[in-house]
Amino acid sequence: MIPMMTLNDGNTIPQLGFGVFRVETVEAERVVADAIAVGYRHIDTAAIYDNEEGVGRGLRASGVPREELFITTKLWNTDHGDTRPFSAIDASLERLGLDYVDLYLVHWPAPPQGLYLHTWQAMEHIRESGKAISIGVSNFVEPYLQEIVDLGGLFPAVNQIEVHPSFRQEELQSLSRSLGIAVEAWSPLAGGAIEADEGDMGSLIERTGKSWAQLVLRWHLDAGRIVIPKSTHRERMIANLDVFDFELDDDAVATIEKIEHPGRRGGDPHTFIARRN
Ligand code: NDP
Repeated sequence: MIPMMTLNDGNTIPQLGFGVFRVETVEAERVVADAIAVGYRHIDTAAIYDNEEGVGRGLRASGVPREELFITTKLWNTDHGDTRPFSAIDASLERLGLDYVDLYLVHWPAPPQGLYLHTWQAMEHIRESGKAISIGVSNFVEPYLQEIVDLGGLFPAVNQIEVHPSFRQEELQSLSRSLGIAVEAWSPLAGGAIEADEGDMGSLIERTGKSWAQLVLRWHLDAGRIVIPKSTHRERMIANLDVFDFELDDDAVATIEKIEHPGRRGGDPHTFIARRN
């Protein structure tokens, strides 16, 4: 049911996955097991979410074979450098209880540290070691994305960036795609902060019989983005997967793209190095 996208390294990723930011590790086991039970096969976590152990328990509790799951985690800002990434991936795998992740991302470029190019070269070795099938970046805007590509080694498979109707980063999406890098939208539902009655959304919801979240997820998928909505509620997990039996017409797209709130939610990649986002 969920489309698979082929990345620039030949690996495939379920286009609709499930995020676990702000899910405490004690709750992550139940949340991840529920998400897999209702049909998700792609889970997105990060070292900084402090829930990799719970995520790992949820993966095991699901009973679904490892090779049917796609697991992403991310290297935190304090683990940039020539060698720190090697201990960072080992620690994440240990917490997750896995031998490899399907996708390992540099969480932020953290330019004030000046280490992201060193980090990327270590990421290439991590891929060679088989501890990550694919490697990519997150929150890499210009010029950092181009600098990585200019190293002349592996291109990132994915750039995971903040995208939702009121913060679209269209130029960055185009640049990523022109380099063969898949765009993955974080906070695809704007962290739940979209108002169902903004602009003409109310009448669109009435006309289609779909929720604002379903309409926004369909909008992302039609644009070719990978999405990773998060919910701790099983009924919302199910609803967020139920987005493949309808289409958006031009009016619907225009209505969604007129949403103006809440705008950017996350940090500015040029300056962001804080421990938590
Ligand atoms: P989302 O855009 O996925 O929105 C999640 C929020 O929306 C939650 O509060 C959830 O509430 C609510 N929600 C979910 N489904 C529905 C629905 N159908 N109807 C109404 N409300 C709904 O936000 P996130 O910030 O969690 O982003 C998704 C994922 O992206 C993260 O979990 C993480 O994996 C990743 N991410 C990556 C970042 C990066 O820097 N690379 C930064 C931020 C996120 P409830 O849980 O109560 O159901």
